[in-house]
Parts: sequence; structure tokens; C-alpha cells
Amino acid sequence: MSDSFVRATCPTCGDVVLTTADIGLQTDHGQSAFLFACPRCHEHVTREVPAGIIHILQAAGVHEVSPEPELIGADELADFLADFERVDCLDQLRRLDHGA
Ligand SMILES: [Zn+2]
Repeated sequence: MSDSFVRATCPTCGDVVLTTADIGLQTDHGQSAFLFACPRCHEHVTREVPAGIIHILQAAGVHEVSPEPELIGADELADFLADFERVDCLDQLRRLDHGA
């Protein structure tokens, strides 16, 4: 399978030619974008994709990438939830409730 060429626009360099392997497709909360590293200036460029074009990119073999990492990582979230399960945490809340 050979990669198709895709023309994209870098805000710095203008039109650049990429292959589908150079592009990542990102879908997040109904917004779609494709990302690529410009072959000339190596800037990471994100471009919004109109909904009607996503399937064309997918058909061309563009792979999907994960959205940007969340501000709270999975580990931090686990710590946060573990804190909630601590009994003394609930006791503290009860004490505050009684104005002690
Ligand atoms: Zn560029």
C-alpha cells in the first residue's frame, strides 16, 4: 500500500506536500482536526476539518490520533478518588458541618 500525497497549508510556509502517513486525524467533542509536522519549518500545525471531509481523509488512509492529554492525568484522578475514599476525610467534613 502506498501513501497518497496530501497538500496542506502551513501558516508559516504556505502550501506543503505531505503523505497521508504524515498526518494525524483527531476527533474531540465533535470537532475534527488534522495535525501534521510541517516538513519545512517542523512546526506542529493543527487544522480544523469540515465534517464532510473526515471520511475522505479516512478513506485516504489517514490514521486517527488520540486527543491532547487531559489536564488531569489518569494517575492524578486515581489519587483524587482515593482521597475521597479515606474515612478521615469524611470525618473532617462532618466536623466542619457541625461547626466544631
Ligand atoms: Zn512550515
